[in-house]
Amino acid sequence: MPPLIGISCSYDQKEGRFFLPEAYCEAVVKSGGFPVILPGTGGIKSVRPYFAAIKGLILAGGGDVDPVHFNEEPQPGLGEITPDRDRFEIMLIKAALKKNLPVLGICRGAQVLNVACGGTVIQHIASGVKKPLKHFQSAPRWYPTHEIAIVDSSRLAKIIGTKAARVNSFHHQAVRQPAPGFTACARSSDEVIEAIEHPGYRFVIGVQWHPECMVDKDKNSAQLFREFIAAAGSRSKKQ
Ligand code: MN
Repeated sequence: MPPLIGISCSYDQKEGRFFLPEAYCEAVVKSGGFPVILPGTGGIKSVRPYFAAIKGLILAGGGDVDPVHFNEEPQPGLGEITPDRDRFEIMLIKAALKKNLPVLGICRGAQVLNVACGGTVIQHIASGVKKPLKHFQSAPRWYPTHEIAIVDSSRLAKIIGTKAARVNSFHHQAVRQPAPGFTACARSSDEVIEAIEHPGYRFVIGVQWHPECMVDKDKNSAQLFREFIAAAGSRSKKQ
C-alpha cells in the first residue's frame, strides 16, 4: 500500500472554496505515495482523525501567515491572510511532530512550519531584505531562476547530494528566525533562507521553492519528494 499523504490546501474565503494545484498530488503519486487533501474548515476543532490515516504531511503553498502568530504587527507589504487556514495548519503541524510523522513544508508551508514551532517570517522581502533577488519569478513554474547554497552537513544536502542547486521562486515572504531546534539549511545569494530542517525528527524539512512543479525536469526536486515519501512509507510498515 502506498503511504497516505495528507496535503493542506488553500481557502478562498470570499468564494468559500478549498483548492490545491494538482502538481502536489501528481508529485506524491509519481513518488510512490497516495494523496489526500485536508480541508481546514473553520468547524474543525481537532485534527486527530486525520492522523489515524495519514503517514506524512505536506504543507502546501498559498497566502501569507498572519504575523500575530509570531508576535508582530502587520506591515504594509503583507498580503492576504486566511485565519482559518493558519489555525488549522498549526494544529496539523503540532500533531504531526508529536507523532514524529514526516513533514514537508513548501513555500508558505515552510513559513507556517517555522511559525508553528516558534520562529518568525519576513513579511515582505522587497522591503525587509537588503538588495533582494527577484523571488517572484516571471518564468514557467518548472523553471529554476535562482541559485541556493545548501549547508554541507544538512539532511537536505544528503538528500540532494549537492551543495549548490537552482530552484524556482514564487514567494514574497521567507523564514527570518528559524524556530528553536530548526536550522537554516539553504540560502540564496541575498541571504534569504530557502530551506529549514529539524534534525531531531525523522524527516521535517521546509523548502521555499516549489519542488512539486519541478519533479519531471529537476532531479533534486524528484529526489526530495522520493525521500519524503520513502520516510512516510517506512513509518507505515512499522505501524
Ligand atoms: Mn526564492
